[in-house]
Amino acid sequence: MSFKALNLSESVLRGVQAAGYTDPTPIQLRAIPVVLGGGDLIASAQTGTGKTAAFALPVLSRLGNHGRPRVLVLEPTRELAAQVETAFRDFARFTDLRTVAVFGGVGYGHQRQELKRGVDIIVATPGRLMDYLKERTITLQDISILILDEVDRMLDMGFLPVVKDIINRCPRERQTLFFSATVPPEIQAVASFALRNPARVECGVNRSVNESVKHALYPVSQEQKFDLLVALLAKTDFDSVLVFSRTKHGADKIARRLKAANHSVAVLHANRSQNQRIEALAGFKSGKYEVMVATDIAARGIDVAGVSHVINYDVPEKPEDYVHRIGRTGRAQAVGDAFTLVTPENAGDIRDIQRFIGAKIPELRLEGFDYKASAPRPAGPELQRPKGSLPGQIRHKGSFNRYRGRR
Ligand code: AMP
Repeated sequence: MSFKALNLSESVLRGVQAAGYTDPTPIQLRAIPVVLGGGDLIASAQTGTGKTAAFALPVLSRLGNHGRPRVLVLEPTRELAAQVETAFRDFARFTDLRTVAVFGGVGYGHQRQELKRGVDIIVATPGRLMDYLKERTITLQDISILILDEVDRMLDMGFLPVVKDIINRCPRERQTLFFSATVPPEIQAVASFALRNPARVECGVNRSVNESVKHALYPVSQEQKFDLLVALLAKTDFDSVLVFSRTKHGADKIARRLKAANHSVAVLHANRSQNQRIEALAGFKSGKYEVMVATDIAARGIDVAGVSHVINYDVPEKPEDYVHRIGRTGRAQAVGDAFTLVTPENAGDIRDIQRFIGAKIPELRLEGFDYKASAPRPAGPELQRPKGSLPGQIRHKGSFNRYRGRR
């Protein structure tokens, strides 16, 4: 089925074509008719599935022409807000509809000016939006469509009270859409006060990892973790690598050590200023930095085409974060590899992840790495070296098929 058959407005259809999309993704196929019909919706979908267009396209189609602020999209992070604003602007390029993003970490002046010029769609992080609501730069009295994106993460980040406050400031007569990778009971509870008879769309992807991604666990002792990371980077034929750390401090430390090992490295975490975050992302996208070290919250939802590898330096705390991290590679059918360094203390977390994704991740030893005698060994048969197209195939420099040139 094509976008044409989905009853989007003519100008939005042109915007989609200009964006280069030809076929709708499953979440788009299922969510767009619900949103166009005006109903409430709870959609389980993670980033990478095309969920932004799943709400942006029908919402823009419903708005028609420029008027008052009628759509509010809440996002958990600044990066996501900026990305979703860009998507709305792209799709709306053949309309006169205006989108403005409001988020913290930058000055108020430019955002105030933009808001003054008149806006139809506000994409906001909760904190900065509250500032504008309190000073009455923004009112929500005309909001007819409220979208909460990445609701699970928003609640994880402690935004529940402010999100409730914002929902209560919107008119009761409205359409409300929830997008969330997972829908745990806390979200059901918020949904029951915010939504009316919502349709549910589950794309069956919320527990699975992208099929084009090859996974592997690398057992290692705590003391050799960093050396193994460096060895993996040296042996892997990568285009760009996202390295995940559990903590901001850890991310800084890894970045410092990687720089000392002559890698070009960017760092993304919540303690970095907005300018540093923008520079890091832009530099990573342009290829100036080949490695980006990030924490989960900072990296949530960022869309960097061509991330060839994700390396979990630290095992994620929550199983769903594994899926989110891995979602950074293999977007839009590109291939990607995902390596996880595992110390013996992580055994329980790994079990939880494997249960969550419903698959066992192969354990590998890096050939040629000088494992200390005490190093943990992979479970199962000794030789789990990648072979042919078995799951867990890793393309190491020199030893296996080099898979493509740099983009
Ligand atoms: P999202 O899940 O909204 O973050 O989208 C993930 C990526 O897929 C983005 O880079 C989108 O531009 C891209 N994308 C979304 N929908 C489509 C589509 N129907 N065809 C091709 N690419 C798409």
